[in-house]
Amino acid sequence: MVEQEARDQTRRCRALPDSVATVTRRGLCMGCGTCQSVCPSGAVVMQVEARTGCITPRIDDQRCTHCGRCMAICPGHSPSPRRAPQEPGSARWDDVIGAYHACYTGHAASHDVRYHGASGGIATALLVHMLQSGAIDGALVTQMSPSNPLQTTWVLARSVEEIVAANGSKYCPTAPNAGLSEILAHEGHYAVVGLPCHMHAIRRWGQSNPLLAERIALHLGLFCANNNTYLGTEYFLWQHGIAPQDVAGIRYRAEGWPGRIVVTLRDGRRIVVPRGSSERRWHRRALFTSAFHYHFAIPRCLLCADQTCEAADLSLGDPWLRELTVTERVGLSLVIARNPQGEALLSDAVAAGAIVVQPTDISVVRRAQNYAFKRDVGGRIWLCRTLGRAVPEYPDRALPASIRSVLSGLRYLPCYVSHHRRLWPLLRVLAVVEGGSRLFMARIGRGMRRLFGASPKDRRAV
Ligand SMILES: Cc1cc2nc3c(=O)[nH]c(=O)nc-3n(C[C@H](O)[C@H](O)[C@H](O)COP(=O)(O)OP(=O)(O)OC[C@H]3O[C@@H](n4cnc5c(N)ncnc54)[C@H](O)[C@@H]3O)c2cc1C
Repeated sequence: MVEQEARDQTRRCRALPDSVATVTRRGLCMGCGTCQSVCPSGAVVMQVEARTGCITPRIDDQRCTHCGRCMAICPGHSPSPRRAPQEPGSARWDDVIGAYHACYTGHAASHDVRYHGASGGIATALLVHMLQSGAIDGALVTQMSPSNPLQTTWVLARSVEEIVAANGSKYCPTAPNAGLSEILAHEGHYAVVGLPCHMHAIRRWGQSNPLLAERIALHLGLFCANNNTYLGTEYFLWQHGIAPQDVAGIRYRAEGWPGRIVVTLRDGRRIVVPRGSSERRWHRRALFTSAFHYHFAIPRCLLCADQTCEAADLSLGDPWLRELTVTERVGLSLVIARNPQGEALLSDAVAAGAIVVQPTDISVVRRAQNYAFKRDVGGRIWLCRTLGRAVPEYPDRALPASIRSVLSGLRYLPCYVSHHRRLWPLLRVLAVVEGGSRLFMARIGRGMRRLFGASPKDRRAV
């Protein structure tokens, strides 16, 4: 009955062109949660859609006044513009990375924060330092939900304990921007942590809401090639024979770098699985990638042209350099200071001994990631447009489609059907076949390079 009511309501909302229900219906919702915060009548609530495993807005049509504010700030259909190459303060420009002031590799000074962080624990160490030094009154972060260990929730953390408890990457849907209304409701200064889509929304809203812009002392962005639906996690558990109801907690990146997935069961057992990048057995690596990269990607992520969180003040990622992945075991982050504000906050934390960094060159940042996902977005957008699907507007980016980029997009097609659980055995076979053929092609490539003397590429996929 309740479900029927929800379905009826969703159907009614689909008729409203001036609400984000349109964005959801067109498949452009990222689930960032900004619409919940911006709605003046409390008509929007973010919820997990059980069928697709995504977070989407549910709109109460009795409360919706059709003011159009949610549409105006929604990054789903219009992400925020790219910073201009010559924007004051962002002294330098790179076509792939965007505006940057300086780049670093580094880690939290505290061994524990570094070891338990996703990469080098820089995000957590910086937020803790800012809180303790009085630069912020709190930080908008994302943690696994206390009421449902397989879902996420935002928290406006006002204590060191809360910030530390939210560390680590969550490779599943998150809606931290639903907490922006809390920032607006409480005086003070805050840091916000989020993915590129979250930052696009915050910047867009900040342009029309000076109070929000003034209250956010730091936009701390995470690199993101793509995120995954909750079904990706469920599929991963299924592969390992774990029933979701038996799970007491999951950490997607735990115990050093590049880290492992650690699932804690209600009976106290721990299941520890190496992450794809540290897994030696190719078929297990392929299965991991299928769950957390290709087959359960949030479809809207495939149309994102960012990847390094260009709209942030500081962007954080992993330095996936072969020379580091074979030696580093505790944790290391890649940091891009995008403007003097980000640079000053980072320097302050370094001077206080909270963070350790080494300056590095932009060429290292370019080597440290596989930017194929970003490079090929033009092909995926072309593919979607050709299939009659809606695509976001990127007026300030040239996103050419090549035959290769279109073909590479085909690899993600299963994410449109992976919510059919009966297809999961098939996806498993597909992942292994795909992984095997990639390995085979890589071996052929290596052989060719050895034969013709070209140097091997010094980078790894995430
Ligand atoms: C979905 C996703 C995809 C990513 N893709 C890449 C990639 O392709 N390449 C790359 O180099 N790095 C990627 N990262 C970033 C990387 O995993 C680390 O988050 C980043 O390097 C910061 O590490 P840290 O140790 O400094 O963070 P920590 O100190 O561990 O703190 C992490 C902070 O991020 C917040 N957070 C975690 N997950 C989310 C989320 N899903 N949404 C919003 N906030 C969150 C936490 O609340 C915490 O405050 C991705 C992260 C996520 C969540």
